[in-house]
Amino acid sequence: MSGCEENLCQQFALAVCLHCMHRLCIHHINDHQNIALNQLDQLKTEANQITTSLVNASNTIVEERKADEKKCVAWRMQKLAEINDEYNKMMNSIRIRQKVLEQQELNFNQRLKIDVQQPLEQMYTQKSISPQLLDAIQLAIENIRKDSDVLIWNSPELNKIQNLHINSKDETKSTSTKRPKKEKINAWKPRVLFFTFFRDVGPGSVKKVNDFVQTMLEGEDKMENQGLITLVFSYLQTWHKTNRDKHKQLILDKHILTIKQYVNGKDCERKVLTALKYFFNTLKNKDSTE
Ligand SMILES: [Zn+2]
Ligand SMILES: [Zn+2]
Repeated sequence: MSGCEENLCQQFALAVCLHCMHRLCIHHINDHQNIALNQLDQLKTEANQITTSLVNASNTIVEERKADEKKCVAWRMQKLAEINDEYNKMMNSIRIRQKVLEQQELNFNQRLKIDVQQPLEQMYTQKSISPQLLDAIQLAIENIRKDSDVLIWNSPELNKIQNLHINSKDETKSTSTKRPKKEKINAWKPRVLFFTFFRDVGPGSVKKVNDFVQTMLEGEDKMENQGLITLVFSYLQTWHKTNRDKHKQLILDKHILTIKQYVNGKDCERKVLTALKYFFNTLKNKDSTE
């Protein structure tokens, strides 16, 4: 019998260790068996750790994927809301433009009726033709023809105050996360010219106004039939092309107040009306020579 091949061991070798193929005593056979078992345990632990980390990685991937999917869904919702918002604004702009144009058309028809058709009818029925009134009607027709040029869907004037956002070349701007700026529509302001003109009609203005009143006396009765307010409003429409009653009233008040300062016999409505016509004609001339 040979001895145990483990260093310094004096025992007899009983068997060959399958771990290291050395001949060992019973004591060292057990030792080697334990070392091998420990290694096995360690490998098993490592294998388990890897399995766990793989499962963890997989779970993390799923969680992060779901989080990104959620973000994507939220992004989509926000973009759709923005697109919807933009769409509604565009449709609203289109509706407003349609309304504005309809109103303008209505105004032109109204002006045509009041300034042209009704006076013509009256001259026919009364068989009295006033040259001044004919001139006024001619002027009204020309003005309506000229003013009705604005009845265009894509008129530059409308585009200036109301951007429809359609055919916009800058696609990135309208689809960016920034909310589109609110469309600015300039508030209507009376032109300074009118107010300064109302205050001062120049040297000899009192005489000019009253001379005009005198020459208009003949046609005055016919004009009165149409009603002071109707005429005044049609004048104001011609001047300012606005439908806002508040502004009309403001101008009307200032206008009549100023006229009353110039006209002899201030309480006579017909004289005020005739003087109004003087202001109207002078303003029109001023406008066309500008
Ligand atoms: Zn061994
Ligand atoms: Zn031994």
